[in-house]
Amino acid sequence: MSLELTTGWSALLEFIRTRCTATEFDNWIAPIRLLSESPEEVHLEVPNLFVQEYLSENFGDLLREFLPPNTLRFTIAEAKAVRAPQPTTPDPEPSPSLLLLNQNYTFDTFIEGPSNQFVKSAALGVATRPGKSYNPLFIHGGVGLGKTHLLHGIGHYVREHHKKLKMHPITTEAFINDVVDSLKSKSIDKMKKFYRNLDVLLVDDIQFLQNRLNFEEEVCNTFEALLNQGKQIVITSDKPPSQLKLSERLVARMEWGLVAAVTIPDLETRVAILQQKAHSRAFELPTQIAFFLAEQIASNVRQIEGAINRLAAHTRMARAPLTEETVQTILAEMLTFRPRSQPTVDAILQAVSTLFNVRVADLKGDSRQKEIALARQVAMFLAKEMLEEPLTKIAASFGGKTHSTLLHACKKIAEELQTNETLARQISMARRNIGS
Ligand code: ADP
Ligand code: MG
Repeated sequence: MSLELTTGWSALLEFIRTRCTATEFDNWIAPIRLLSESPEEVHLEVPNLFVQEYLSENFGDLLREFLPPNTLRFTIAEAKAVRAPQPTTPDPEPSPSLLLLNQNYTFDTFIEGPSNQFVKSAALGVATRPGKSYNPLFIHGGVGLGKTHLLHGIGHYVREHHKKLKMHPITTEAFINDVVDSLKSKSIDKMKKFYRNLDVLLVDDIQFLQNRLNFEEEVCNTFEALLNQGKQIVITSDKPPSQLKLSERLVARMEWGLVAAVTIPDLETRVAILQQKAHSRAFELPTQIAFFLAEQIASNVRQIEGAINRLAAHTRMARAPLTEETVQTILAEMLTFRPRSQPTVDAILQAVSTLFNVRVADLKGDSRQKEIALARQVAMFLAKEMLEEPLTKIAASFGGKTHSTLLHACKKIAEELQTNETLARQISMARRNIGS
């Protein structure tokens, strides 16, 4: 046996290879890139923080042994550069839970931007290490912002990379139906057993439990059973746990892990989503048109999809290149099909709350924290502009503020708008959101 002692990153890699399974190596170690290596510094690029933690937690001793002391430096790669390891063997038979996953909702087709980067990386963390990072992961945000897409993205990833884990995606409605059916057929024990034996449970739209309180306890018991065994749960909702009308016990469980919000994507991200959707339909979308569309449709990605479908159909039939004018006509048609309701204070609060990621309660409250105060002033500004109501009444609906507070807020925002382009864009986005 040769006793030649080699050190350094490549030697360490070979050693780690003998210390873990092939899958572990592929999922965790293979994605690490050596950026540079010298006696002073070993610089590694990791796809996310979880990989860095994994390395330190599991191989900390080896790192110290193989690398000179205090030379290790990590850089987290641009999220888009993460390469998912390829599965080693193809799967012949789709399992029932795979059929419940939308094929198009994978991490690969999810476009990242500032509005969703944090949630996406949390989702990826949960998918790579189910039960070991955030548990539960609670994803909330408005309609069409990609919550279900991310949930299914986790599902696909787990299916592909952790084949042995029992994963089950379900909507809250379907869960309730399951309980009802198994009560009828006296098979509730079987059903409980099924859920409690899962390794990964993905629950979509938990807000629907609010009107079905009879089922709350069963949901809560299931969650607790899984959480206590370290099994992963991911939940989506249109509101954060604290705003759901559910029992304190359930809310507490849902807040146990990480609560993260998806917000409305900025213009560049919307353009990227549009182009991605067009691309997946083999439809050529000129950049200029993509920007034009993304300007018009701000709030809901599902609308973006609808627009792409219409434009694609139109282009196929007309066999002519798209002009802004055609796009405008098609869009106008599309948007008038949706009844626009009269704006209300609640709609304004909701839109501002989503856009600025501030709770409605805080918009009505007194906090002077910068972000909250700004969002509150924007909401007041919009309310004054959009509502045909006496100012005293509008002011009162912000948790009983006075007329002069309202005027002061409006003046501040009007001034700020002179110079702050970002704010101007946010406000026009909010306007489009309200009552739509
Ligand atoms: P939610 O569950 O939040 O209401 P969905 O996940 O159903 O929204 O998303 C609505 C549509 O928008 C889906 O087709 C989804 O693929 C798409 N979508 C939303 N966000 C993104 C994104 N960041 N990248 C790509 N597609 C997205
Ligand atoms: Mg959804």
